[in-house]
Amino acid sequence: MFKPLLSVQDLSVGFASGRTLLTAVSDVSFDLTAGETLALLGESGCGKSVTALSLLRLLPAAGRILGGEVRFAGNDLLQLPEVDMRAVRGGGMAMIFQEPATSLNPVMTVGRQIEEVLERHLALSGEAARQRALELLNAVGMADAARRLNDYPFQLSGGMKQRVMIAVALAGNPRLLVADEPTTALDVTIQAQILDLLRRLQAEHGMGMLLITHDLGVVAQMAHRVGVMYAGEIIEEAPREAFFSSPRHPYTQKLFAALPDITRRGGRLETIDGQVPALTAMPSGCRFAERCPHAWERCRAEAPKWHQVGEQHRVRCHLLAEPERLVASAPQALRETNSLATPDSALLTVDHLRVHFPIRRGVFQRTVGHVKAVDDVSFELARGRTLALVGESGCGKTTAGKAILQLIKPSAGSVQLAGRELTVLSRHELRPLRRRMQMIFQDPFASLNPRLSVGEIIGEGMSALGVEQPNAGREAAIARLLQQVGLDPAAAQRYPHEFSGGQRQRIAIARALAVQPELIICDEPTSALDVSVQAQILNLLKSLQDDLGLAYLFITHNFAVVEYLAHEVAVMYLGRIVERGRVDEVMNSPRHLYTQALLSAVPSPSLTGAQKIIRLTGETPSPANPPNK
Ligand code: SF4
Repeated sequence: MFKPLLSVQDLSVGFASGRTLLTAVSDVSFDLTAGETLALLGESGCGKSVTALSLLRLLPAAGRILGGEVRFAGNDLLQLPEVDMRAVRGGGMAMIFQEPATSLNPVMTVGRQIEEVLERHLALSGEAARQRALELLNAVGMADAARRLNDYPFQLSGGMKQRVMIAVALAGNPRLLVADEPTTALDVTIQAQILDLLRRLQAEHGMGMLLITHDLGVVAQMAHRVGVMYAGEIIEEAPREAFFSSPRHPYTQKLFAALPDITRRGGRLETIDGQVPALTAMPSGCRFAERCPHAWERCRAEAPKWHQVGEQHRVRCHLLAEPERLVASAPQALRETNSLATPDSALLTVDHLRVHFPIRRGVFQRTVGHVKAVDDVSFELARGRTLALVGESGCGKTTAGKAILQLIKPSAGSVQLAGRELTVLSRHELRPLRRRMQMIFQDPFASLNPRLSVGEIIGEGMSALGVEQPNAGREAAIARLLQQVGLDPAAAQRYPHEFSGGQRQRIAIARALAVQPELIICDEPTSALDVSVQAQILNLLKSLQDDLGLAYLFITHNFAVVEYLAHEVAVMYLGRIVERGRVDEVMNSPRHLYTQALLSAVPSPSLTGAQKIIRLTGETPSPANPPNK
């Protein structure tokens, strides 16, 4: 057995809140050897980032290490004086974060930021540091690296910034890299490049890597071992193969069951009822007990201990001690959907739609060109059907959605809702049609007015669009809507900040439903949500479609969601639809090279052999200057 590079024993971390100290991470232990990747997997708020920050002693001001040991390179990092700790950070152990924009210094050139680390940890300066910085930028695959050394972060795209941050992290030759959601903010094709890069650099330098993620696809590609965190504890630890072939903790099993994919079409996704317990109300027994289908008295009374279930595979669950208790969890009622039925005539017809934004320059603001955000887009969508519009950031999919709703004036083309042309209508004429088409956004918090109660938010749309409830009062209508989206009618009196992300998205859906629309444009409605909450929202959207015959234009970059929910898919690239067809056709045999590259870059949450990624060379052209063909 190799000596671990990093050994964490019984690490506990708390946060001061007023006079109390709330424990966010409890007795976390794991080892990591050189050249190995350990993935810490978990949903938001489970304590994985807090664990990572504690290793480097970078907790925010309210954070306190309550106990434990972090052994790295012969030292207990928790006992090191701060001055020695500085040598560890960026030297022995480096960290990369999810959001490079906030981690890079905006007023320093890329080259200078790398050189600073080289000076501090390797005593390199002047030309030698410059040369090494250039080598590092080349190593992370930065195109035109020599020129980029003099660039500032704002001049770089998201993928380039992430590469710079990796170059900065690697500059001190770290033996251990802590990567906290390093690709979550990136498009799949860039994600594939960055993951590839990390794997290659790790193999070349024998670096250990602690990878923090919530993405089972990334885990399948990168990890040697996996630790699953829930409510501040590690509850399952396993080698990658055992983790994917036989997850043993009920929570891990539920996470897998909540993933949308093509095999679950027509049925409901499994969800995890309830919420992660709050730090102020952490149960003394199993922390998953309130949501676990197998829980019994012992689970509520006694915290489960570790049980070894295989080589390096251990689980914290009482079921392992009393397997006879294992009840087959009742599969959630599969409900036959009628939404796969043959579509009737088109509700929405988009024909040669264009949205071009002028580029103006000079004193007279003369138009010198156009950004072709949406360029000649055509499709039809029938009642009760879902068309997924997929593509990477900046491909024009959200602009297309807004242009369809006439929130942005199209430059050319036609948009017809049930045969009525929308592009020629005045604002006044559009008003009665607005209630027939609604939009749900990615960030439900930003789209809900924080000063209005939930009841007022839902009622506001009704009044604005003149939807009155003749037979029932407004309150009864709001209560019914809240029930329809799975919320307690009492929620009407409360305010958006009192709800979780998934609940806020339900409120946004209730608001959209309040005006009885026929078409809903869903703009990445689940991309900010955890997998278990995403499953609830997808189930809800599906059952509403079945019950009310709604048509969805579903804007997304998540192919698993497309496979599960959509009937047809249109792939957008640089403002144009490059491929369109039935979901099974496009997903199983994509024709366009871009679709093939996009699909090949999506990390699959299973071990289905080596994934062959099709690489597109060069950067994506600007929509201001797209290629002719
Ligand atoms: Fe479920 Fe009990 Fe196991 Fe916790 S200990 S996961 S409640 S069976």
